Amino acid sequence: MTIVHAWAAPSAGAPFEPFTYELGALEADEIDIAVTHCGICHSDLSMQKNEWGMSRFPLVPGHEVVGTVAAVGASFTHLKAGQRVGLGWMSRSCMTCNPCMGGDQNLCPTGEGTIVGRHGGFADRVRAQAAWAMPLPDEMDSVGAGPLFCGGATVFTPFLEFDVRPTDRVGIIGIGGLGHMALMFARAWGCEVWAFTTSDSKAEEAKKLGAHEVANTRDADRLATLAGQFDLVLNTTNAPLPFDAYMQALAPKGRFVTVGALVEKPVELGAFSLIAGQKTLAGSQIGSILTIRKMLEFCARHNISPQIETFPMNEVNEAMAHLEAGKARYRVVLEA
Ligand code: NAP
Ligand code: ZN
Repeated sequence: MTIVHAWAAPSAGAPFEPFTYELGALEADEIDIAVTHCGICHSDLSMQKNEWGMSRFPLVPGHEVVGTVAAVGASFTHLKAGQRVGLGWMSRSCMTCNPCMGGDQNLCPTGEGTIVGRHGGFADRVRAQAAWAMPLPDEMDSVGAGPLFCGGATVFTPFLEFDVRPTDRVGIIGIGGLGHMALMFARAWGCEVWAFTTSDSKAEEAKKLGAHEVANTRDADRLATLAGQFDLVLNTTNAPLPFDAYMQALAPKGRFVTVGALVEKPVELGAFSLIAGQKTLAGSQIGSILTIRKMLEFCARHNISPQIETFPMNEVNEAMAHLEAGKARYRVVLEA
Protein backbone atom coordinates (compact mmCIF):
# COMPACT_ATOMS: atom_id res chain seq x y z
CA MET A 1 0.00 0.00 0.00
CA THR A 2 1.43 3.38 -1.04
CA ILE A 3 0.70 6.47 1.07
CA VAL A 4 0.82 9.70 -0.93
CA HIS A 5 1.88 12.93 0.80
CA ALA A 6 0.11 15.79 -0.93
CA TRP A 7 -1.10 19.38 -0.57
CA ALA A 8 -4.88 19.75 -0.71
CA ALA A 9 -7.43 22.55 -0.49
CA PRO A 10 -10.05 21.20 1.97
CA SER A 11 -12.84 23.39 0.52
CA ALA A 12 -13.39 25.95 -2.25
CA GLY A 13 -10.90 28.82 -1.96
CA ALA A 14 -9.28 27.45 1.20
CA PRO A 15 -5.48 27.40 1.48
CA PHE A 16 -3.55 24.21 0.87
CA GLU A 17 -2.79 21.92 3.80
CA PRO A 18 -0.77 18.71 4.07
CA PHE A 19 -2.97 15.77 3.10
CA THR A 20 -2.27 12.07 2.82
CA TYR A 21 -4.16 9.41 0.93
CA GLU A 22 -3.71 5.78 -0.05
CA LEU A 23 -3.18 4.61 -3.60
CA GLY A 24 -4.99 1.35 -4.27
CA ALA A 25 -3.70 -1.45 -6.48
CA LEU A 26 -2.07 -0.36 -9.74
CA GLU A 27 -4.14 -1.28 -12.81
CA ALA A 28 -2.40 -3.00 -15.72
CA ASP A 29 -2.55 0.16 -17.87
CA GLU A 30 -1.41 2.61 -15.18
CA ILE A 31 1.82 4.05 -13.91
CA ASP A 32 2.83 5.89 -10.75
CA ILE A 33 5.09 8.89 -11.07
CA ALA A 34 7.42 10.00 -8.26
CA VAL A 35 6.96 13.77 -8.62
CA THR A 36 10.09 15.91 -8.82
CA HIS A 37 8.48 19.10 -10.23
CA CYS A 38 5.00 20.43 -10.88
CA GLY A 39 4.05 23.61 -12.75
CA ILE A 40 1.12 25.74 -11.59
CA CYS A 41 -1.43 26.52 -14.29
CA HIS A 42 -4.15 29.14 -13.87
CA SER A 43 -6.57 26.19 -14.13
CA ASP A 44 -5.21 24.93 -10.77
CA LEU A 45 -6.27 28.26 -9.26
CA SER A 46 -9.69 28.09 -10.95
CA MET A 47 -10.14 24.54 -9.61
CA GLN A 48 -9.02 25.57 -6.10
CA LYS A 49 -11.76 28.21 -6.14
CA ASN A 50 -14.26 25.86 -7.86
CA GLU A 51 -14.88 28.51 -10.54
CA TRP A 52 -15.96 25.81 -13.00
CA GLY A 53 -18.21 23.90 -10.57
CA MET A 54 -16.42 20.59 -11.09
CA SER A 55 -13.92 20.54 -8.20
CA ARG A 56 -14.10 17.78 -5.62
CA PHE A 57 -12.65 18.50 -2.18
CA PRO A 58 -10.21 17.87 -0.70
CA LEU A 59 -8.63 18.95 -3.99
CA VAL A 60 -5.00 18.14 -4.85
CA PRO A 61 -4.20 20.27 -7.93
CA GLY A 62 -1.15 19.91 -10.15
CA HIS A 63 -1.34 18.85 -13.78
CA GLU A 64 2.05 19.92 -15.14
CA VAL A 65 3.89 17.06 -13.55
CA VAL A 66 7.45 15.90 -14.10
CA GLY A 67 8.95 12.97 -12.28
CA THR A 68 10.30 9.49 -12.59
CA VAL A 69 8.39 6.28 -13.17
CA ALA A 70 7.92 4.68 -9.75
CA ALA A 71 5.69 1.76 -10.76
CA VAL A 72 4.42 0.57 -14.10
CA GLY A 73 1.43 -1.68 -14.83
CA ALA A 74 1.77 -5.06 -16.48
CA SER A 75 0.42 -4.13 -19.91
CA PHE A 76 2.85 -1.32 -20.69
CA THR A 77 6.43 -1.93 -21.70
CA HIS A 78 7.38 1.41 -23.27
CA LEU A 79 8.12 3.01 -19.89
CA LYS A 80 10.74 1.78 -17.46
CA ALA A 81 11.14 2.34 -13.72
CA GLY A 82 13.26 5.43 -13.08
CA GLN A 83 12.61 6.96 -16.50
CA ARG A 84 11.78 10.71 -16.58
CA VAL A 85 8.23 11.43 -17.72
CA GLY A 86 5.71 14.28 -17.80
CA LEU A 87 1.95 14.30 -17.29
CA GLY A 88 -0.54 17.05 -18.17
CA TRP A 89 -4.24 17.78 -17.79
CA MET A 90 -5.42 14.36 -19.00
CA SER A 91 -4.85 11.21 -16.96
CA ARG A 92 -7.04 8.76 -18.82
CA SER A 93 -9.04 8.35 -22.01
CA CYS A 94 -11.05 5.33 -23.13
CA MET A 95 -8.88 4.67 -26.24
CA THR A 96 -11.84 3.09 -28.08
CA CYS A 97 -14.34 5.92 -28.87
CA ASN A 98 -14.22 7.66 -32.25
CA PRO A 99 -12.14 10.66 -31.07
CA CYS A 100 -9.65 8.34 -29.32
CA MET A 101 -9.43 6.02 -32.34
CA GLY A 102 -8.95 9.08 -34.55
CA GLY A 103 -6.04 10.34 -32.47
CA ASP A 104 -7.99 13.02 -30.59
CA GLN A 105 -7.70 11.41 -27.15
CA ASN A 106 -7.89 14.88 -25.57
CA LEU A 107 -11.49 15.05 -26.83
CA CYS A 108 -12.56 11.67 -25.35
CA PRO A 109 -16.04 12.22 -23.85
CA THR A 110 -15.24 9.97 -20.89
CA GLY A 111 -11.65 11.17 -20.49
CA GLU A 112 -10.42 11.99 -16.99
CA GLY A 113 -8.58 15.13 -15.96
CA THR A 114 -5.60 14.66 -13.64
CA ILE A 115 -7.23 16.92 -11.03
CA VAL A 116 -10.89 16.29 -11.82
CA GLY A 117 -12.23 13.70 -9.40
CA ARG A 118 -8.70 12.45 -8.79
CA HIS A 119 -5.61 13.73 -7.06
CA GLY A 120 -2.91 15.61 -8.97
CA GLY A 121 0.75 16.48 -8.76
CA PHE A 122 1.01 18.78 -5.72
CA ALA A 123 2.21 15.58 -4.10
CA ASP A 124 5.11 13.17 -3.93
CA ARG A 125 3.34 10.73 -6.22
CA VAL A 126 0.63 10.76 -8.88
CA ARG A 127 -1.06 7.97 -10.82
CA ALA A 128 -2.23 8.00 -14.45
CA GLN A 129 -2.95 5.83 -17.44
CA ALA A 130 0.51 5.08 -18.82
CA ALA A 131 -0.30 6.36 -22.33
CA TRP A 132 -0.68 9.90 -20.96
CA ALA A 133 2.80 9.92 -19.40
CA MET A 134 5.32 11.03 -22.01
CA PRO A 135 9.05 10.41 -21.77
CA LEU A 136 11.11 13.61 -21.62
CA PRO A 137 13.67 14.16 -24.39
CA ASP A 138 17.17 13.58 -22.94
CA GLU A 139 18.23 17.18 -23.60
CA MET A 140 15.25 18.65 -21.68
CA ASP A 141 15.73 19.79 -18.07
CA SER A 142 13.16 18.36 -15.65
CA VAL A 143 12.67 21.68 -13.84
CA GLY A 144 11.34 23.55 -16.88
CA ALA A 145 9.53 20.72 -18.63
CA GLY A 146 6.32 20.52 -16.56
CA PRO A 147 4.64 23.65 -17.99
CA LEU A 148 4.85 22.17 -21.46
CA PHE A 149 2.49 19.35 -20.53
CA CYS A 150 -0.59 21.53 -20.04
CA GLY A 151 0.17 25.14 -20.95
CA GLY A 152 2.57 24.28 -23.73
CA ALA A 153 0.37 21.60 -25.26
CA THR A 154 -2.62 23.94 -25.14
CA VAL A 155 -0.99 26.71 -27.15
CA PHE A 156 0.90 24.37 -29.49
CA THR A 157 -2.22 22.47 -30.59
CA PRO A 158 -3.87 25.37 -32.48
CA PHE A 159 -0.81 25.68 -34.75
CA LEU A 160 -1.52 22.15 -35.98
CA GLU A 161 -5.32 22.07 -35.72
CA PHE A 162 -5.82 25.40 -37.51
CA ASP A 163 -3.09 24.89 -40.11
CA VAL A 164 -1.02 27.92 -39.17
CA ARG A 165 1.57 28.69 -41.86
CA PRO A 166 4.96 30.41 -41.58
CA THR A 167 3.57 33.20 -43.76
CA ASP A 168 0.78 33.92 -41.24
CA ARG A 169 0.53 36.88 -38.92
CA VAL A 170 -0.38 35.60 -35.45
CA GLY A 171 -1.52 37.55 -32.37
CA ILE A 172 -1.22 36.18 -28.83
CA ILE A 173 -3.46 37.80 -26.20
CA GLY A 174 -2.19 37.57 -22.60
CA ILE A 175 1.48 37.04 -21.90
CA GLY A 176 1.22 34.74 -18.91
CA GLY A 177 2.05 31.06 -18.49
CA LEU A 178 0.38 29.97 -21.73
CA GLY A 179 0.94 33.17 -23.68
CA HIS A 180 4.70 33.35 -23.21
CA MET A 181 5.06 29.80 -24.57
CA ALA A 182 2.76 30.70 -27.48
CA LEU A 183 5.12 33.56 -28.42
CA MET A 184 8.06 31.14 -28.56
CA PHE A 185 6.11 28.61 -30.62
CA ALA A 186 4.80 31.21 -33.07
CA ARG A 187 8.27 32.64 -33.63
CA ALA A 188 9.83 29.21 -34.16
CA TRP A 189 6.94 28.36 -36.53
CA GLY A 190 8.12 31.24 -38.71
CA CYS A 191 5.15 33.57 -38.25
CA GLU A 192 4.96 37.32 -37.81
CA VAL A 193 4.17 37.49 -34.09
CA TRP A 194 2.24 40.11 -32.14
CA ALA A 195 1.88 40.13 -28.36
CA PHE A 196 -1.24 41.71 -26.84
CA THR A 197 -0.66 42.48 -23.17
CA THR A 198 -2.17 44.62 -20.44
CA SER A 199 1.24 44.86 -18.74
CA ASP A 200 3.55 47.49 -20.23
CA SER A 201 6.33 45.98 -18.11
CA LYS A 202 6.17 42.80 -20.22
CA ALA A 203 6.72 44.52 -23.58
CA GLU A 204 10.50 44.14 -23.76
CA GLU A 205 10.42 40.55 -22.56
CA ALA A 206 7.64 39.72 -25.01
CA LYS A 207 10.01 40.78 -27.79
CA LYS A 208 12.79 38.61 -26.39
CA LEU A 209 10.36 35.69 -26.26
CA GLY A 210 9.49 36.10 -29.93
CA ALA A 211 7.12 39.02 -30.53
CA HIS A 212 7.89 41.28 -33.46
CA GLU A 213 5.33 43.81 -32.22
CA VAL A 214 3.58 44.50 -28.91
CA ALA A 215 0.20 46.18 -28.40
CA ASN A 216 -2.07 46.79 -25.44
CA THR A 217 -4.84 44.18 -25.17
CA ARG A 218 -7.53 46.80 -24.55
CA ASP A 219 -6.31 49.55 -26.88
CA ALA A 220 -9.36 49.81 -29.16
CA ASP A 221 -7.80 52.62 -31.25
CA ARG A 222 -4.73 50.49 -31.99
CA LEU A 223 -6.92 47.47 -32.78
CA ALA A 224 -8.92 49.57 -35.25
CA THR A 225 -5.71 50.34 -37.15
CA LEU A 226 -5.03 46.60 -37.42
CA ALA A 227 -8.29 45.69 -39.19
CA GLY A 228 -7.92 42.72 -41.56
CA GLN A 229 -4.36 41.90 -40.44
CA PHE A 230 -4.32 38.62 -38.50
CA ASP A 231 -4.62 35.06 -39.76
CA LEU A 232 -4.87 33.71 -36.22
CA VAL A 233 -5.47 35.35 -32.86
CA LEU A 234 -4.95 33.09 -29.85
CA ASN A 235 -6.57 34.26 -26.62
CA THR A 236 -4.99 33.00 -23.41
CA THR A 237 -6.82 35.32 -21.02
CA ASN A 238 -9.93 34.50 -19.01
CA ALA A 239 -11.12 38.10 -19.11
CA PRO A 240 -13.85 39.80 -21.17
CA LEU A 241 -12.30 41.37 -24.29
CA PRO A 242 -13.53 43.65 -27.10
CA PHE A 243 -14.33 40.56 -29.17
CA ASP A 244 -15.86 42.44 -32.13
CA ALA A 245 -12.69 44.52 -32.46
CA TYR A 246 -10.55 41.38 -32.46
CA MET A 247 -12.76 39.77 -35.11
CA GLN A 248 -12.31 42.89 -37.23
CA ALA A 249 -8.55 42.59 -36.78
CA LEU A 250 -8.72 39.17 -38.47
CA ALA A 251 -7.90 38.81 -42.16
CA PRO A 252 -10.60 37.20 -44.35
CA LYS A 253 -10.93 33.55 -43.25
CA GLY A 254 -9.01 34.44 -40.09
CA ARG A 255 -9.53 32.51 -36.88
CA PHE A 256 -9.92 33.68 -33.31
CA VAL A 257 -9.14 30.75 -31.03
CA THR A 258 -9.69 30.92 -27.31
CA VAL A 259 -7.95 28.65 -24.87
CA GLY A 260 -8.49 31.07 -21.97
CA ALA A 261 -11.53 29.98 -19.97
CA LEU A 262 -13.75 33.04 -19.66
CA VAL A 263 -16.62 32.09 -17.35
CA GLU A 264 -17.48 35.48 -15.88
CA LYS A 265 -19.88 36.21 -18.75
CA PRO A 266 -20.63 34.86 -22.25
CA VAL A 267 -18.57 35.91 -25.26
CA GLU A 268 -20.51 38.76 -26.87
CA LEU A 269 -20.18 39.05 -30.61
CA GLY A 270 -22.23 40.48 -33.48
CA ALA A 271 -23.13 37.99 -36.23
CA PHE A 272 -21.56 40.19 -38.93
CA SER A 273 -18.24 40.01 -37.12
CA LEU A 274 -18.23 36.36 -38.23
CA ILE A 275 -20.10 36.61 -41.54
CA ALA A 276 -18.09 39.43 -43.13
CA GLY A 277 -14.80 37.83 -44.15
CA GLN A 278 -15.94 34.29 -43.29
CA LYS A 279 -14.26 34.28 -39.92
CA THR A 280 -14.10 31.57 -37.29
CA LEU A 281 -14.43 31.76 -33.54
CA ALA A 282 -13.13 28.52 -32.02
CA GLY A 283 -11.96 26.90 -28.83
CA SER A 284 -9.16 24.44 -28.29
CA GLN A 285 -8.63 21.92 -25.53
CA ILE A 286 -5.09 20.94 -24.45
CA GLY A 287 -3.59 18.46 -26.94
CA SER A 288 -3.66 14.84 -28.10
CA ILE A 289 -1.02 12.32 -27.07
CA LEU A 290 0.74 12.59 -30.42
CA THR A 291 0.57 16.39 -30.41
CA ILE A 292 2.23 16.52 -26.99
CA ARG A 293 4.97 14.18 -28.21
CA LYS A 294 5.48 16.30 -31.34
CA MET A 295 5.56 19.45 -29.21
CA LEU A 296 8.31 17.96 -27.02
CA GLU A 297 10.35 17.19 -30.16
CA PHE A 298 9.68 20.71 -31.48
CA CYS A 299 10.85 22.25 -28.19
CA ALA A 300 14.00 20.13 -28.13
CA ARG A 301 14.77 21.01 -31.78
CA HIS A 302 14.19 24.76 -31.32
CA ASN A 303 15.66 24.97 -27.83
CA ILE A 304 12.36 26.17 -26.38
CA SER A 305 11.84 25.98 -22.64
CA PRO A 306 9.37 27.88 -20.49
CA GLN A 307 10.63 30.84 -18.47
CA ILE A 308 10.02 29.77 -14.89
CA GLU A 309 10.25 30.73 -11.23
CA THR A 310 10.60 27.95 -8.66
CA PHE A 311 9.12 27.54 -5.20
CA PRO A 312 9.57 24.58 -2.84
CA MET A 313 6.41 22.49 -2.75
CA ASN A 314 5.81 23.36 0.92
CA GLU A 315 5.43 27.02 -0.15
CA VAL A 316 2.54 26.15 -2.44
CA ASN A 317 0.27 28.81 -0.87
CA GLU A 318 2.86 31.54 -1.48
CA ALA A 319 3.38 30.25 -5.02
CA MET A 320 -0.35 30.31 -5.76
CA ALA A 321 -0.67 33.84 -4.35
CA HIS A 322 2.20 34.92 -6.62
CA LEU A 323 0.33 33.58 -9.65
CA GLU A 324 -2.99 35.09 -8.56
CA ALA A 325 -1.37 38.51 -8.12
CA GLY A 326 -0.22 38.41 -11.75
CA LYS A 327 3.43 38.43 -10.65
CA ALA A 328 4.56 35.15 -12.24
CA ARG A 329 7.26 35.55 -14.91
CA TYR A 330 6.04 33.48 -16.51
CA ARG A 331 5.30 30.06 -15.01
CA VAL A 332 5.66 28.98 -11.40
CA VAL A 333 7.09 25.50 -10.84
CA LEU A 334 6.97 23.68 -7.50
CA GLU A 335 10.00 21.58 -6.57
CA ALA A 336 9.38 18.46 -4.50
P1 NAP B 1 -1.82 33.20 -16.34
O1 NAP B 1 -0.41 32.73 -16.25
O2 NAP B 1 -2.47 33.78 -15.14
O3 NAP B 1 -1.87 34.23 -17.57
C1 NAP B 1 -3.07 34.85 -17.98
C2 NAP B 1 -2.69 36.22 -18.59
O4 NAP B 1 -3.91 36.86 -18.96
C3 NAP B 1 -2.03 37.18 -17.64
O5 NAP B 1 -0.65 36.99 -17.53
C4 NAP B 1 -2.36 38.51 -18.25
O6 NAP B 1 -1.43 38.77 -19.33
C5 NAP B 1 -3.71 38.27 -18.91
N1 NAP B 1 -4.77 38.85 -18.10
C6 NAP B 1 -5.03 38.63 -16.79
N2 NAP B 1 -6.10 39.36 -16.39
C7 NAP B 1 -6.52 40.03 -17.49
C8 NAP B 1 -7.58 40.96 -17.73
N3 NAP B 1 -8.44 41.32 -16.76
N4 NAP B 1 -7.72 41.46 -18.99
C9 NAP B 1 -6.89 41.12 -19.97
N5 NAP B 1 -5.85 40.24 -19.80
C10 NAP B 1 -5.69 39.72 -18.58
O7 NAP B 1 -2.78 32.01 -16.79
P2 NAP B 1 -2.42 30.71 -17.70
O8 NAP B 1 -1.96 29.60 -16.81
O9 NAP B 1 -1.62 31.12 -18.85
O10 NAP B 1 -3.89 30.27 -18.17
C11 NAP B 1 -4.62 31.13 -19.04
C12 NAP B 1 -6.04 30.61 -19.23
O11 NAP B 1 -6.01 29.40 -20.01
C13 NAP B 1 -6.79 30.25 -17.95
O12 NAP B 1 -8.15 30.62 -18.12
C14 NAP B 1 -6.67 28.73 -17.89
O13 NAP B 1 -7.70 28.13 -17.12
C15 NAP B 1 -6.80 28.42 -19.37
N6 NAP B 1 -6.32 27.10 -19.80
C16 NAP B 1 -7.03 26.49 -20.79
C17 NAP B 1 -6.59 25.29 -21.30
C18 NAP B 1 -7.35 24.64 -22.43
O14 NAP B 1 -7.18 23.45 -22.67
N7 NAP B 1 -8.16 25.39 -23.17
C19 NAP B 1 -5.43 24.70 -20.79
C20 NAP B 1 -4.71 25.37 -19.81
C21 NAP B 1 -5.16 26.59 -19.31
P3 NAP B 1 -0.90 40.28 -19.61
O15 NAP B 1 -0.22 40.71 -18.35
O16 NAP B 1 0.04 40.07 -20.74
O17 NAP B 1 -2.09 41.10 -19.98
ZN1 ZN C 1 -3.46 23.65 -17.15
